[in-house]
Amino acid sequence: MTWKITIDKDKCIGCGLCVSVCSDNFAMNEDNKAEVLEAKVEELGCAKDAEENCPVNAIKTRKI
Ligand code: SF4
Repeated sequence: MTWKITIDKDKCIGCGLCVSVCSDNFAMNEDNKAEVLEAKVEELGCAKDAEENCPVNAIKTRKI
């Protein structure tokens, strides 16, 4: 199964939580917004934790 991970940068408040829980797949950019390092993954892994814990629901994962 392949998953696509996206971040709504307009919603992101730059809290850094997604990077804390899943540094394999999230990083902060120079604008202090989160970026997805690998948008398509076979296993969600910690990206699911990031999605569930983002305080503004900016992270979305969906099957593709
Ligand atoms: S957890 Fe959400 S609000 Fe915080 S940096 Fe990541 S995407 Fe942005």
